[in-house]
Amino acid sequence: MISDFKNKKILLISPHPDDIEIGMGGTAVLLSKKNKLSHITCTNGSGSYNNYKNKEILVKKRRKEALESNKFLNIRGNFFYDIDNVKSRKNIAEFERNIKCDIAKIKPDILFCPHPTLDRHATHRKISKSILKIINSSNIRVFFYEVWGPFNKYHYYVDIGDVIKEKIKLIKFHKSQMSYKNYVKGIIGLNTFHAKFNDFGKNNLEFIEVFIEKTI
Ligand SMILES: [Zn+2]
Repeated sequence: MISDFKNKKILLISPHPDDIEIGMGGTAVLLSKKNKLSHITCTNGSGSYNNYKNKEILVKKRRKEALESNKFLNIRGNFFYDIDNVKSRKNIAEFERNIKCDIAKIKPDILFCPHPTLDRHATHRKISKSILKIINSSNIRVFFYEVWGPFNKYHYYVDIGDVIKEKIKLIKFHKSQMSYKNYVKGIIGLNTFHAKFNDFGKNNLEFIEVFIEKTI
């Protein structure tokens, strides 16, 4: 059902460069064919693994990697926020000001972000909580994708068997991060795990991505 969306304005939220690719790269490929995608990358990724031992070089590399990946996804609206994290009050205020303004500009029908309580990463949770507060009672449909850890229960799945190669390609654009851990294995492993032990009793699936929808 999620992959059937057509002619929608869809906003993808990555707390760090690469979260969309990890959590819903396959679904994003499918959605990109019939919808208008925008992508907000909320931090510059400077706090992640740094093989260059230099913050500016890493930030530059990560921006380049994200742009290549976004181009592959045919994303028209790219928004990058140049903040290191959302830990300080100043950074949180800057982030919330920026995203409020951009959501008002983009006017999405649908928004994807990590889960505000189930996600394992504190920055992901913080960012999603801020976004939910900002969009509050609007009509935007919100779906949560998983990053790193599995959801135990979920509402929807998307069969990404036909686009698994594209998903792997998207993840591999993020070379700066791939160099410390081959995380394709973990991510594809998670997609395989869900396909084989899914909540819907479907036995013919190879790779799926799963989603929880925000309910009021
Ligand atoms: Zn992240």
